[in-house]
Amino acid sequence: MELSKAYAHGEIEARWYRYWLDLGAFRPSDGGASFSMVIPPPNVTGSLHMGHALNNTLQDILCRYKRMDGYSVLWVPGTDHAGIATQNVVERQLAEKGQNRAQLGRAKFIERVWQWKEEAGNTILNQLKALGVSCDWSHERFTMDEGLSRAVREAFVRLWEDGLLYRAERLINWCPRCKTALADIEVVHEETDGHLWHIRYPFVDDPANGLIVATTRPETMLGDTAVAVNPEDPRYRRAVGRKVRLPIAGREIPVIADAYVDPTFGTGALKITPGHDFNDFEIGQKYDLPTICIFDDDARIRAAAFAENGKEPEWLQRYKGKDRFEARKLIVEQLKDEGLLEKVEPYRLALGRCYRCQTPVEPYLTPQWFVKIKPLAEPAMEVVRDGRVKIVPEGWANSYFAWMENIKDWTISRQIWWGHQIPAWYCAACEAGHIVKTGQGDFLLTKEARPIVAREQPTKCPVCAGDQFIRDPDVLDTWFSSGLWPFSTLGWPDQTEDLKRFYPTSVLVTGFDILFFWVARMIMMGLKFMGDVPFRDVYIHALVRDQEGQKMSKSKGNVIDPLDVMDKFGTDAFRFTLAALAAMGRDVKLAEDRIAGYQNFVNKLWNAARFVLMNLSAGNAAVDSSDGKLNLADQWILSRLSATIGKTREALDTYRFNEFAHHLYQFTWHEFCDWYIEMSKLALNSGDANERQKTERVLATVLENILLLLHPIMPFVTEEIWHALKEKLGQNDPKATIMLQPYPRAAEGDVRPEIEERVGYLMEITRAVRNLRAEMNCPPSKEVKVLVYGSGDNLTLLKAHERYLRALARVGAIEYRTEGERPKGAATAVVGETEVYVPLGDMINLEEERTRLSRELGKMEEELARVRKKLGNSDFIAKAKEEVVRREKEKAAEFEEKIRTLNLSLGRIDEIAQPGDKA
Ligand SMILES: [Zn+2]
Ligand SMILES: [Zn+2]
Repeated sequence: MELSKAYAHGEIEARWYRYWLDLGAFRPSDGGASFSMVIPPPNVTGSLHMGHALNNTLQDILCRYKRMDGYSVLWVPGTDHAGIATQNVVERQLAEKGQNRAQLGRAKFIERVWQWKEEAGNTILNQLKALGVSCDWSHERFTMDEGLSRAVREAFVRLWEDGLLYRAERLINWCPRCKTALADIEVVHEETDGHLWHIRYPFVDDPANGLIVATTRPETMLGDTAVAVNPEDPRYRRAVGRKVRLPIAGREIPVIADAYVDPTFGTGALKITPGHDFNDFEIGQKYDLPTICIFDDDARIRAAAFAENGKEPEWLQRYKGKDRFEARKLIVEQLKDEGLLEKVEPYRLALGRCYRCQTPVEPYLTPQWFVKIKPLAEPAMEVVRDGRVKIVPEGWANSYFAWMENIKDWTISRQIWWGHQIPAWYCAACEAGHIVKTGQGDFLLTKEARPIVAREQPTKCPVCAGDQFIRDPDVLDTWFSSGLWPFSTLGWPDQTEDLKRFYPTSVLVTGFDILFFWVARMIMMGLKFMGDVPFRDVYIHALVRDQEGQKMSKSKGNVIDPLDVMDKFGTDAFRFTLAALAAMGRDVKLAEDRIAGYQNFVNKLWNAARFVLMNLSAGNAAVDSSDGKLNLADQWILSRLSATIGKTREALDTYRFNEFAHHLYQFTWHEFCDWYIEMSKLALNSGDANERQKTERVLATVLENILLLLHPIMPFVTEEIWHALKEKLGQNDPKATIMLQPYPRAAEGDVRPEIEERVGYLMEITRAVRNLRAEMNCPPSKEVKVLVYGSGDNLTLLKAHERYLRALARVGAIEYRTEGERPKGAATAVVGETEVYVPLGDMINLEEERTRLSRELGKMEEELARVRKKLGNSDFIAKAKEEVVRREKEKAAEFEEKIRTLNLSLGRIDEIAQPGDKA
């Protein structure tokens, strides 16, 4: 097996993924300590975006590392049924054919969703495979599969039995488009420009006067059942206890006093709408006010709310069936006409929107299911406090506590069809009074309906022994089932071998956006049902943004598609980029040229491997690093390798993925490729067979270790090279994989500071000569003479290893001096106590160089003047983007620096080239 000239990622990636699957290399090994993770299940509707790519790359790095390090690794993959999102997808498909779900009926509709899931639901998992993830696919789960559905029913019933679940009529967040309840965190609040309308409510006993209320939602006044003022407010002392007449609807409503009212807001008189405002609902409960639900489930004015004795009042004709925003317009108009609108002011308000469809959420009164959350939240805070769950980076723990301390009961019922239907039944006989039939097969469960919660449909009503039941039509919040994910996927409620071995899981890797939706719920549920935390560590990574730090979005046109860049630059380069940019607590700012940069790194590794393989005599096995007879360069690179192994492990053990990538990049590119390979050529070409053989072994050893170290982050290219290397070494095994080789470990004493110091000195001298050559623009092919002034060990060292200096800095003659007059007309560098001189005449033609430098200097000065003029132009500074100004300033600094070095070089020439001297 030969390495081709260039690395062709496409074919190689597919081949090795297939190979790993065939080997069963992703399955947990029989022996070894357990290391387990569950994937944050992507929505079954999803397709791979940058967030998934980052999340799964980091997880895969950990899994591959731990697997190589001898752990029995289980990484559970799967997808989430994503209730509303999936239902929306299928509903859209129906709409294209002019159908809707009501026409289809529940059973048929759900069948359709399953059908869709079979056809399209695996897209994201296949895309994840392209990313190289080493999940155990034999453990793949779906939140609606049979086992997980059983877990959901079990959890629900146990919560009910423990008194942590209740069904009640409460004001909840309602999405009038999705027509379902939403949990508090499914509502996204954003600052919006609105208005504050001041409306006069006339006193019943004195219609010429009244109270002025201020509201941001005039349409809800139809549901007002009181006006409240602060008892301490002197303006309203005489109003309390009287009645006002509600404009338009004409109802008489009381004026009440409550300390909750903020006298400084608006006029200090607050309209109370218990049916459509959470705070008003509380006040309504306190004062026993009626709650009027003025909207239907699609937020249109509901005539039934106002009908008296089956008759609709006259005023209603104008409003009934009108959407809430249209109703607002009409109401404001009518108030104006009636002279009851006092004034309108602009006002900023936090508008809540549905996180799925952005429709403004409506507080809505319906019977729902709730989880009593406090008893679950307390222990979930405790385990983070006492370190049983460690949140990394630590800062997120504060957000976690803040949220958990203010947590409200969790609304878990959703009025959609796709999801886990609630395991609660209602007796059709004895509780018939509470089931309102609303049409053929349709029914409404009132708040009084008493559920029978059970794992399976009951056969007999415990009250009347009837055997006809209606099942609660609601389904559970998607996050209810994903909250069970770390143990339901391992077989709970059965006490399986998997649960014993792999629960609690080792670490959860996830984005901060689902810290509350998901992470907090898993901790609560894990403690409740398993009596233990679901994971030891939670590593929270940031978002992937564009180069400028902007969120990627279709509308901005700055989205980078992971599949595109994997195709273009190779998956390894892409994965490396994500890890290299994933600094703890900082957003990942991704640009294609970063990926292109790391593709160069992949190519660098490839070319280095080709060099090693080409120079390796077949069968020359890897080296024993304790071999003391190695030459200095060989000893040095082995020491550096050991240091790198230590740093790499430390970085991975502390989730510092960017440092992990950085150490490997530095070592591979700068130490191995730039220095060691160049140094090794001297041994390879020395004619000393013994030395050559040893260096060959070191090359092979270091290359193999680089491959092993890099494997978790760049699985494909490392596997490809590793096989070629093994073959060359005569160690090939048709079933071997780098995936299952031990991860490198450095022993005490493998890092040898004295060797590194010595080579460090040689490198500095080499660098100094190289710099002098570069500064003086010495042609690369030109050999120069070097004079070294120094003493002691360093000089001995340099003398003994001068071949490196000769080869790496293209040096011919070297003269060593301990004292004496320093030469004139030479470029100088000082390295510690060593002085290095390179006669200029050796490097360049002085006159030509003077001309060239002068010309260059002139050009730079012109450029600098141009930029300075621009920066001096106040018009430009005022109009240009910050970014552009910054770039211009950088340019100016760059030109200044160039001018400085050019003057320095010219000075040197002047120093030696006396007038008339045509050196
Ligand atoms: Zn919605
Ligand atoms: Zn009954």
